[in-house]
Amino acid sequence: MGNVLVVAEIQNGKVREASYELLTFAKKLAEGTGRGVKSLVIGSGVGDAAAAFASKGGGETLVVEDAAVANYNVDGYRAAIRAGVEAADADVVLISNTPSGWDVAPRIAAGLDAGFISDCFGVEVEGGNAVFLRRVFNGKLDARLKSSSAKTVVTVQPGACAAFAGSSEGGTKPLTADFSGIRAKFVEVKVAESKGIDLSKAEVIVSGGRGLGAPEKFPEIIQPLADALGGAMGASRPVVDAGWLPHAYQVGSSGQVVQPKLYIAAGISGAIQHLVGMKASNFIIAINKDPDAPIFEVADLGVVADLFEIVPALTEAVKAAKG
Ligand code: FAD
Repeated sequence: MGNVLVVAEIQNGKVREASYELLTFAKKLAEGTGRGVKSLVIGSGVGDAAAAFASKGGGETLVVEDAAVANYNVDGYRAAIRAGVEAADADVVLISNTPSGWDVAPRIAAGLDAGFISDCFGVEVEGGNAVFLRRVFNGKLDARLKSSSAKTVVTVQPGACAAFAGSSEGGTKPLTADFSGIRAKFVEVKVAESKGIDLSKAEVIVSGGRGLGAPEKFPEIIQPLADALGGAMGASRPVVDAGWLPHAYQVGSSGQVVQPKLYIAAGISGAIQHLVGMKASNFIIAINKDPDAPIFEVADLGVVADLFEIVPALTEAVKAAKG
């Protein structure tokens, strides 16, 4: 049996939070199946980031330092990951389900003739074998998948597990790869305009839907409750499609997948495409005037009422309780 290789992602010179989540996933898989965990960091000038990752759970961390992979490019990353798989004697490769992960992971799997399981949100161990969990049919079913291949490449949803918070020994080890096959030339990074919200990290999310009726109701009704609870504001897709809020606020199958401690849905019907993005939240409160709204099927607490009465009253109650 081989090891689990965690492919860490670098963003702004640091290892991304999603890579620490991969470690949590990796440790669960490794402990149950008797594997070890090793990591791989790719980039240029990433020595400090790799050392930090190695000491915070990454264990023995292979580092491919080369100007050729200073910025993401699929050929370079593919070469580095292939070298990492060999050096780590890995039979399970974990990659975050991010845009670069979508790009490189299937190519790694094809090149290794490995099984490929994408967009997992969890792993369980049954009789010493890993069982990977992923949502299918827009979240209606959870598929439980075992790999029958000698090697398996798995991508894991950011936000699906808590970030690993422990420490590890192992240190970093330099690794070289053959970059002669790089066919793309890096030109520039264009950063999309960001409103500074990352719902995947919020512990409390208060989301509003079409039931709000008008864009100004979001700053008037939803944002004050989110602020009072120290959380973030979210929305359903029609709100974004109507231009009331930017896409960064959208929760659901074509928006963000979130797992906060508390999710409050106000004026949201609970279409499957919305549920798939929030039903893993720890505690869900739904406020809807329609008692048959499907959102109540996933709610821990359902309030059948007019949101324009309940939400402001709740905001005042939270403020009063906080003094
Ligand atoms: P509605 O379904 O119109 O529901 C509004 C709700 O507000 C109703 O239940 C109503 O009873 C309630 N309401 C109205 N007034 C009040 C009041 N005063 N007080 C309390 N309750 C009130 N949707 C997403 O959210 N995220 C996605 O990522 C997403 N991706 C999609 C991808 C695809 C390919 C497709 C086809 C659809 C997608 N959708 C997504 C759309 C989804 O199918 C639903 O249309 C959408 O979620 C409905 O949004 P809503 O609940 O805000 O609106």
